[in-house]
Amino acid sequence: MAVHLPFENTYARLPDRFYARVAPTPVRSPRLIRLNTELAVDLGLDPEWLAGSQGLEALSGQRVPDAAEPIALAYAGHQFGHFVPQLGDGRAVLLGEIVDRHGVRRDVQLKGSGPTPFSRRGDGRAALGPVLREYVVSEAMNVLGIPTTRSLAAVLTGETVTRETELPGAVLTRIATSHIRVGTFQFFAARRDLEGLRLLADHVIARHYPEAARSDRRYLSLLELVTSRQADLIARWLLVGFIHGVMNTDNMSIAGETIDYGPCAFMDEYDPGKVFSSIDRQGRYAYENQPQIATWNLARLAEALLPLIDEDQQKAVQQVENVLEGFSTRFEATYSDGMRQKLGLSTVEDGDIGLAGEFLDLLATNQVDFTIAFRRLSDAADDAVANDELRGLCQNSPGFDAWWVRLRARLAREPETVKSRRMRMRAVNPAFIPRNHRIEEIIEAATVANDFAPFHEMLSILARPFDDQPDFARYQESPQPHERVCQTFCGT
Ligand code: AMP
Ligand code: MG
Repeated sequence: MAVHLPFENTYARLPDRFYARVAPTPVRSPRLIRLNTELAVDLGLDPEWLAGSQGLEALSGQRVPDAAEPIALAYAGHQFGHFVPQLGDGRAVLLGEIVDRHGVRRDVQLKGSGPTPFSRRGDGRAALGPVLREYVVSEAMNVLGIPTTRSLAAVLTGETVTRETELPGAVLTRIATSHIRVGTFQFFAARRDLEGLRLLADHVIARHYPEAARSDRRYLSLLELVTSRQADLIARWLLVGFIHGVMNTDNMSIAGETIDYGPCAFMDEYDPGKVFSSIDRQGRYAYENQPQIATWNLARLAEALLPLIDEDQQKAVQQVENVLEGFSTRFEATYSDGMRQKLGLSTVEDGDIGLAGEFLDLLATNQVDFTIAFRRLSDAADDAVANDELRGLCQNSPGFDAWWVRLRARLAREPETVKSRRMRMRAVNPAFIPRNHRIEEIIEAATVANDFAPFHEMLSILARPFDDQPDFARYQESPQPHERVCQTFCGT
């Protein structure tokens, strides 16, 4: 028999204390909801085989594929600021790694696959709703060009899970550049397991940051590279209005991908203090706090790495402090660059970020939808109707008019034609984002009526976020008052 899933297992070659060997628990009657054909092909897998009965057995955890060595990863983490020395995969197993068609090693994980030694009180399962949410949002993020874990498949288990009510159970097959987190480093640091820490750091360098191996301060270089990727990532989140919701250190990928979609959301009206997550009562992970929180998380990574960086801890502290200061420089650079593109500016002037800030202030004061405003702005320059619409969004029209005059003056110093500017702006300011109220709708249809058509429809629309799709305007619109989703839940 051909090996349909050519797993390698480099993480399982690390010492036993890095994970627990545990197979997925079989489910009653698995049914495929969706297979991500394009991603399967990218991984060098045969989509037809995956969608068939043997593929379904692998994707649901009925049968462990030949080459897989399933493990649940150990990690720790700061949750809402409180350190928990042992978390770990409580409802997921890593089947193995597959080297994709571009030569990139990627993890294949089943999420919702049953209990593991790290489950504590949880059942190790996932409800259908969060699985669909993660599938939709992670795939949307990817098309928007934002580093993220991917969704290869969603499967119904034929079993129910008990949350506030009984809900259909599901399993998500998640693909990640790796599942190593800031919290994985904290796991070993908290145990003063220097050998484990070094093995982990060397594994991460070899896998994700080979350039660090060439540095004479490889672990400091590792911290620097992680910091830089995280700074880029958070800037990109902000540029599309994304709020992760639970940026605990165990939910922060060492590879710089968005990971662990729980109570996440894209904001509708622009509000820098916006929080959706029902468990984030203090607003710790509010939209505008995300850069600071990422820095805080990276400081926890730096602490964990200290013993590897310099025997003299005081010297080590000084070195990591310098590196952490690089976060804001990198963040500002990516954010400013992205904001300029959103405004249609191809050259750089000092006042640009101020100009962007004034626009954002207008949106905040007038509770204007972030995504719609930038999309309208893309058309407003050479389209009077779009300009009127944009102006109409701001009840404070005099404020808008004054800003518009300043923007026009700035654009007049741009070399680009209006037409090409408009095209470029439309390629960075999406028309479609995974709006929360529509996600709730597709989850409701699937959960209550076993109707997955809206889920598939939403995915096909979000696959082309920068194209106008007039037939699907309802996916573009911000929620009516009765449709507003005020809170999102982990729903694990
Ligand atoms: P999260 O908030 O999703 O990042 O999860 C935090 C921790 O709780 C992780 O260690 C998860 O594996 C664990 N966990 C979440 N949901 C469950 C569940 N249903 N069963 C067992 N463990 C869970
Ligand atoms: Mg997590």
